Amino acid sequence: MKQLLISFIIYSVVVLAVAKDYNGYKVYDLSPTKEQIPFVMEWEFQTGIDFWSYGRANKAFRIMVSPEIESNFVNFLDKNEINYSIGIENVETTLKSDKITKRSLRLVNGIPNFNYYWSYPEMEEIFNRLATDYPNLVKLEVIGKSYLNQSIYGVRVSKNQEFGLNPIIFIDAGTHAREWAGIQSAFYFLHQLVENSTIHNDLLDNVDYVFVPVVNPDGFQYSFTEDRLWRKNRHYVNYTCTGIDLNRNYRYMWRYVANSCSGNGYPGVSALSEPETAAVAKYMESFKNNLRLYLSTHTYGGLVLWPFGFAMDIYIKNHKEHQKLGEKFANAISVATGTEYEVGNSADILYTAYGASDDFAIAYGGADFAYTLELPGGGPNGFDYPQDMIHDLVKETFIGYREFSLFIKERFKTVQ
Ligand SMILES: [Zn+2]
Repeated sequence: MKQLLISFIIYSVVVLAVAKDYNGYKVYDLSPTKEQIPFVMEWEFQTGIDFWSYGRANKAFRIMVSPEIESNFVNFLDKNEINYSIGIENVETTLKSDKITKRSLRLVNGIPNFNYYWSYPEMEEIFNRLATDYPNLVKLEVIGKSYLNQSIYGVRVSKNQEFGLNPIIFIDAGTHAREWAGIQSAFYFLHQLVENSTIHNDLLDNVDYVFVPVVNPDGFQYSFTEDRLWRKNRHYVNYTCTGIDLNRNYRYMWRYVANSCSGNGYPGVSALSEPETAAVAKYMESFKNNLRLYLSTHTYGGLVLWPFGFAMDIYIKNHKEHQKLGEKFANAISVATGTEYEVGNSADILYTAYGASDDFAIAYGGADFAYTLELPGGGPNGFDYPQDMIHDLVKETFIGYREFSLFIKERFKTVQ
């Protein structure tokens, strides 16, 4: 009863604290031609513009536009004869449904219920319980502190006393605050490996794991209580602007973009300037001698993307193997549930982006394979995967994760 009461209080706080109002914000679905795409991309750093998903052939760009900038934006579309339609008339209405969802059963005694989203303090309870209950399998460590001084956790999972003798798979999520479904899927993978270790013994034989399920705890918690659609970290830059896009802040091919702090893709003033990226980078580099696969989990888009992302037509040298392994992930999920993923080079499929974590994992982390996963979208706005469907999504994603593990185990098998 006491537990329920506490949960109810937390729930009430969450509901009341959601402050950002998206009344009047619209989502435009654009279908530019290939030639028009660079013009559209120039809006990425504009205040009041938020790219929700990036277009490509037969796939529309989804862009949220604030009321302040809407008439300029529509003028631009008309002047350049770019086809568009309005996908969401009022973004605020898509957020209402989540706010009234009951959150009272999402966690009891640190045991996660995958039918709900959890707050960051609740996730910390999960980490601590796993470390306490499974000391022979789990090593929990604080790998750094966020801008607002919250702990960022790394979780190692291995059957061996000595970690890292096996090939290592490094999984992170929650780089972008609002991408909650990615965080849940990383937690589910961790949960299955640890709490159902006898069932998944095959995944723990000869493979070691490192998880950083929430790279950006400040941003996540802010999206949980204040602004559901927040993407960046919570670094205060100046009175008009807060936040660095952590997935543009890694060291490899980092680029400065002037006067863009208020945009959602702002890379910061220098590579690894943010405590969150610095912590993940240092942690990842500590495993570089045996890091075989890096997976960065995001939402949304239904994509399996491999490096490099910083330029067109520069592929990682084992790109054919990357494509094949990506297809293994996609096919396993397609056969199991019918969900379709597209697999390919990130610059080809999406757009070029400097300073992303998967490029870093190859260039500095010593990884042989690296992917950015964009899980499927869900809910009225894509980021808002409904809580009653989240369990199915994380189970489905786990089917794909399994394929990655089995491949790495076989590919890097040490000859006895
Ligand atoms: Zn993302």
